[in-house]
Amino acid sequence: MDQELESEFEDAPFTISLDEPLDTVFSHEPVLYIIHDRCCGGVKKIYILRSSRPITYRVLIRQLIRQGLRPRCNHLFLEGLDVVGYQTYALSFGS
Ligand SMILES: [Zn+2]
Repeated sequence: MDQELESEFEDAPFTISLDEPLDTVFSHEPVLYIIHDRCCGGVKKIYILRSSRPITYRVLIRQLIRQGLRPRCNHLFLEGLDVVGYQTYALSFGS
């Protein structure tokens, strides 16, 4: 993990373990639906992100944290996002 990432997200309730650099554009869509399907039980949650500009991983993660994304089990490593439908992605957490 790089230094910049450590400092910006050091208080994040999960560990960012993505292959992509944070400033890579994740999507150009104006609306994204990000699903957190709690792997070890709990209620599935859908986060809705709106942006008039391309969304980078950095902005995406910042928005998700602001909206309260917090794993409830010990799968605390955000490893990726899988396409599951139109403008819809599922968060992939591992341990
Ligand atoms: Zn889990």
